[in-house]
Amino acid sequence: MFDLDYSLIKQEIESEVCQEHGLHPEFVKTEEGFGIRACCDPFRIELVQKSEKMVEEETTKMFEKIMKDLLKK
Ligand SMILES: [Zn+2]
Repeated sequence: MFDLDYSLIKQEIESEVCQEHGLHPEFVKTEEGFGIRACCDPFRIELVQKSEKMVEEETTKMFEKIMKDLLKK
């Protein structure tokens, strides 16, 4: 598998603030991919959904770039 650039997603996720507790979440890289630590479950679920969407978008972007590079050869 390819290695996705998680720094952008990490930045975006960690800039979020829990409306209920006013705390920032923590984006952690794990062996299977990544995880999110947050002050409460509803906030964490929201962030997981958001990050999954971002990963999808980043993956699409990366594939497009790979395809463009391939076509150049
Ligand atoms: Zn919270």
